[in-house]
Amino acid sequence: MYKIALLPGDGIGPEIIAEAVKVLDALSRDHGLKVTTSEHAFGGAGWDAAGNPLPEETLAACRAADAVLMGAVGGPQYEALERDMRPERGLLRIRAELDMFSNLRPAMLAPELADASSLKPHLVADLDIMIVRELTGGIYFGGPRGIEERDGQRVGFNTMVYSESEIERIARSAFDIAMKRDKRLCSVDKANVLEVSELWREVVIKISAEYPEVELTHMYVDNAAMQLVRDPRQFDVMVTGNLFGDVLSDCAAMLTGSIGMLPSASLNSAGQGLYEPVHGSAPDIAGEGKANPLATILSLAMLLRYSLGESAHADRIEAAVKKVLASGLRTPDIAAGGASCRCIEMGDAVVAAL
Ligand code: NAD
Repeated sequence: MYKIALLPGDGIGPEIIAEAVKVLDALSRDHGLKVTTSEHAFGGAGWDAAGNPLPEETLAACRAADAVLMGAVGGPQYEALERDMRPERGLLRIRAELDMFSNLRPAMLAPELADASSLKPHLVADLDIMIVRELTGGIYFGGPRGIEERDGQRVGFNTMVYSESEIERIARSAFDIAMKRDKRLCSVDKANVLEVSELWREVVIKISAEYPEVELTHMYVDNAAMQLVRDPRQFDVMVTGNLFGDVLSDCAAMLTGSIGMLPSASLNSAGQGLYEPVHGSAPDIAGEGKANPLATILSLAMLLRYSLGESAHADRIEAAVKKVLASGLRTPDIAAGGASCRCIEMGDAVVAAL
């Protein structure tokens, strides 16, 4: 019996989580998935309930769960709170508390939505790539860092630093993911200029010996950026450090043209994961039934595949989403001005397609 902690959060969070729960219930009822869920206050809702964006009870429940499914956090009513109490801080804290160092950002595009991309449809139809970004190290956390006075002017500096063990664990995480996909991994670095990248490349090559079935290639980050917009379908899994991954994953996300469709995950070495849509709490449409629940439903598919090892159920959800899109059903964000359905109807359609 798997345990999933649900953190609906704020804005459209509760609406989209409710649709993912319907899908989970259908898998339990009709397809033999053994799972229990519990719901916990988080983000602005955590502040409202317990005076903290990550209440102790919520953190304890997440630690005890096999995986966490989150909606979104944040909203204008919380912007005046002191920095540490803001909803987004809860998110940073939970990732740190659970040591989630591996960030998975897939970019997938159903052929029916290819017109939404800024690239030509024939370049992106059926796009399916996965960017694995190291999330807790690199230049965002390295020291020394600061701004100081040198020779009469201010100088700003940061340090890009990775230890062998940090590279080893993100490399293993990426190879494990490649094993569950098309078994092709492209490691992105800047080894022609940076020593930290030289070490990165050396360690990734060393770890590749543990995964003889995976074809490993290397690419400099500037070339990777070009290739992503030239011919994104050449990639299966890409693995890279925190800074490069931040930029490349947003670039890849925009290839799909539709933020309401994109899932994500953050994993730790125990395989525990926090799964969430890439988008925020969309306060502008909260409570109106207009939210697209598919990014959250696809996050649930990732949860089943990467934390529970239930790939057949994940496939089932992804196939159901494809079927619903092929039938022409659209929430307003992907309707391109045409007829649209409500959040609840989209969830019901996915359940029916299961
Ligand atoms: P946003 O992603 O919430 O919204 C951007 C635009 O996309 C809005 O017009 C919104 O209506 C639309 N949109 C987003 N998700 C959608 C969905 N599922 N269906 C249909 N339309 C959707 O970004 P924002 O407006 O910059 O931020 C709003 C709040 O969310 C802020 O408080 C921000 O801090 C927070 N935020 C949270 C997360 C997170 O929880 N991981 C991520 C980003 C932003």
